[in-house]
Amino acid sequence: MWVKRTPEETVKRQQDVIRQARSDGLTIGIIGWVLGALVVSAGWVVSFRAGFAVQTNFGGTFWTRLPVFAVVCTPIVFLARRIETKRAVRNAQLRTVCPQCDTAAEGNAGVPCSCGGTFVPSSTMKWVE
Ligand SMILES: [Zn+2]
Repeated sequence: MWVKRTPEETVKRQQDVIRQARSDGLTIGIIGWVLGALVVSAGWVVSFRAGFAVQTNFGGTFWTRLPVFAVVCTPIVFLARRIETKRAVRNAQLRTVCPQCDTAAEGNAGVPCSCGGTFVPSSTMKWVE
């Protein structure tokens, strides 16, 4: 059954969500960074005017461009991490559950459920056998 978390447990749960999101965001960011640096160093950029990827010569060779674009693309890592953290925290806050019938939903905390229960934020609840 669903029982209410203590305030300490709710805080801990929130921290777990953030920790998990940061590590996920870091992974996503690093993948994006590596791909971004490789693709741009290879000379492939999306031309917004043409609407598709075109090959551009930035000068130098792939290997001289790579370190430069690796540095230029670094903010992708931090950006992805921040976006992912925000997204995960927002999703965790939106997630709700009806403690009576175990129905999961989103963004409807306080709304009556069809079973007669009321949806509550799932971050404040935990499942115990
Ligand atoms: Zn219900």
